[in-house]
Amino acid sequence: MTIQMPSIYNFSAGPAILPESVLRIAQTEMFDYNGTGFSVMTMSHRSDVFMSILYHAEQDLRQLLNIPDNYKVLFLQGGASAQFNMTVMNLCNGFDRVDSVVTGNWSRIAHSQMGKLSDANIHLAAHGGDLYDYTDLPSPETWDVSPNSAFVHYVINETVHGLQYRDIPKPDGMPPVVCDMSSEILSRPINVADFGLIYAGAQKNIGPSGTTIIIIREDLLDRCSDRVPDVWNYKSHVERQGMYNTPATYPIYISGLVFRWLQSQGGIAQMQTINALKAKILYDAIDNSGGFYINKVKPRARSQMNVIFHTARPELDELFAEESTTRGLRLLRGYKSMGGMRASIYNAMPLQGVEALIEFMQEFQKRYG
Ligand code: PMP
Repeated sequence: MTIQMPSIYNFSAGPAILPESVLRIAQTEMFDYNGTGFSVMTMSHRSDVFMSILYHAEQDLRQLLNIPDNYKVLFLQGGASAQFNMTVMNLCNGFDRVDSVVTGNWSRIAHSQMGKLSDANIHLAAHGGDLYDYTDLPSPETWDVSPNSAFVHYVINETVHGLQYRDIPKPDGMPPVVCDMSSEILSRPINVADFGLIYAGAQKNIGPSGTTIIIIREDLLDRCSDRVPDVWNYKSHVERQGMYNTPATYPIYISGLVFRWLQSQGGIAQMQTINALKAKILYDAIDNSGGFYINKVKPRARSQMNVIFHTARPELDELFAEESTTRGLRLLRGYKSMGGMRASIYNAMPLQGVEALIEFMQEFQKRYG
């Protein structure tokens, strides 16, 4: 007799849901990758087998994002947070100013960190709101940026505050654009050529935590000074084909499986269509609840990846978080400073998961509304 297990939907903001089929492949290959007799976790990063995994992961990522040839791709360690400093350490050589756009929790942290280990002036180019109360995004035309700055930094999707630049800022009159795409990379097509450098921690829309993707325009590598230690130096990583030191081999392997999965789903354009639908029905459910569920973000700035909402009472939010858990809707609690709920609906979240959440929301409202 087979026991029907209830569906579990994981709404974590990260580390986050991964496609089930990817985890099944990893399970099958756990003890014997491709006839080698051992796990990817236990093989040398310099072995031909792992080099091939890394090579194909990069090629598949290039295909998915249509990355031009004059961009280099790295899989580094240190998380997205390390990039707050690596970008400045590497790209500011000969420049004395960085433009920084603050629109929520992560860009605020980036802004506070970027000046460390650097004499550059970290200029606040735009500010989206007050601490813990970011509900709209400053439009790029209002950013106070200088073409002579080393770069302008922004976070395209604010994971905590649930904000996303739906129209991607264009670089006209801007210095090179450095963008934190951690919580939205691969969720919709982008034009890589609009960016000087893109970085993204893997643990939201790509794979497990432990690796961070860097996509850097080749000419910017000329700015990386030998005085920057090799482990933090983009150029030294590029010159050694991403093998300056041991990369996070297993997260890279899983990321590669996710890239293959994305290809099998029809690529990023297809993801965009599904992601837009998931976000629309969830925001509609919030907006049509007669004020029972609240999301204060201006519609033009609402994230399609991290949907935040709350009820009018913190006790009710707590009850929602508890009860939803028992229904298989997991990890819906909002960020610690925010309270309320946050449904992260990355690529791997099926439409059925969002539908199950909406059904629960409506039923919960009937009981407590
Ligand atoms: N930027 C964004 C947009 C994030 O969502 C996060 C993590 N939630 C970070 C940066 C920090 O990432 P990490 O923990 O990998 O350093």
